[in-house]
Amino acid sequence: ARSGRASRAVQRCRIVAAAEVEQSYIMIKPDGVQRGLVGEIISRFEKKGFLLKGLKLFQCSKDLAQEHYKDLKDKPFFPTLIDYITSGPVVCMAWEGVGVVASARKLIGATNPLQAEPGTIRGDLAVQTGRNVVHGSDSPDNGKREIALWFKEGELCEWESVQTPWLIE
Ligand code: ADP
Repeated sequence: ARSGRASRAVQRCRIVAAAEVEQSYIMIKPDGVQRGLVGEIISRFEKKGFLLKGLKLFQCSKDLAQEHYKDLKDKPFFPTLIDYITSGPVVCMAWEGVGVVASARKLIGATNPLQAEPGTIRGDLAVQTGRNVVHGSDSPDNGKREIALWFKEGELCEWESVQTPWLIE
């Protein structure tokens, strides 16, 4: 009976939340990996209550980095940004949840770490825009686009967390 109740609760959450569930592409940049911040950064998203759907350590090509940041291709810092992102392995993640895109941006903090609030990832763990340790999608559409860009078919997991009924009423 207990598991029946639990699964009905999950079902209810699924119905309530389905419309608002989004995915965000979160990436720990090479400086975050080199500085040993992988666990710390993943932990913040886990503790918030988002669902991890995909995760890998990955050395990306210049082509992929350029495609990911194509909206910035005319910026003066574009070449150094591509060098930075391809300078070592990154950790690619797909996180799912209600409002995850905007919420992840808040957890990450302002682009310039000196302006990022204490308590945010960049506010706590970084000092310079060009070494700001983490990326997060800026819209649900970009979340979809970036996850499709960085993950191959079969690399994301469909699963349910036992926490869901304790996160969403
Ligand atoms: P965000 O990552 O906060 O969404 P942007 O989309 O504006 O910020 O920029 C993408 C990334 O490009 C930043 O996270 C940072 O790594 C780099 N970047 C942005 N502005 C600058 C800059 N003025 N100098 C160097 N790098 C920059």
